[in-house]
Amino acid sequence: MTQRVRAPSTTRILRLNKAGMPLSWLTREEAATLVVKGQVVWSLGDQQLEIRGGFNCLGRQTILLLPTIIATEGNVFRHREIVPYLCNRMLFRRDQNLCLYCGRHFSHVDLTRDHIIAKCRGGLDTWTNLVTACRRCNQRKGNESPESAGMALLAVPFVPNQVEYLALANRNILADQMVFLKSGFSKNMRAQ
Ligand SMILES: [Zn+2]
Repeated sequence: MTQRVRAPSTTRILRLNKAGMPLSWLTREEAATLVVKGQVVWSLGDQQLEIRGGFNCLGRQTILLLPTIIATEGNVFRHREIVPYLCNRMLFRRDQNLCLYCGRHFSHVDLTRDHIIAKCRGGLDTWTNLVTACRRCNQRKGNESPESAGMALLAVPFVPNQVEYLALANRNILADQMVFLKSGFSKNMRAQ
């Protein structure tokens, strides 16, 4: 039995391709457009989001029910395709706002990106060479390797797969969407 909920405008709908591979998050308006155009091939989810539209000539408001997960045909909204680009926000989320050296939790503003192999030693700006670190640990480590600084990493940095990246990119994932996404997590994210 699906539950009908009035979702805030910030709620996103998870878009899959026909094969069930998660592709992107859609705004309610984008998802509604696809539903109205008949481009939704199938849908999933325990909830239906109620979207209120305009009033018809009888003074009744139109109501559209949106599934929380939709599979679509073709390459609509291609520009929104997710690539795991690297920015501090996503890096800190991958590491759950923990300093991977001292293991303490910090707010975004108190975190830095640390190059495991320092830039001056040829270290790259990649998901596997970057970890979240607090300012103190980052300074202490300097340009040394974790081994020579005597600062062991608490977790192995990983490149998020597309499903993981989608999960990291949205802070307001609905419960049924999260259940679906989790089935595509690698052991790196499942361990968290
Ligand atoms: Zn630290």
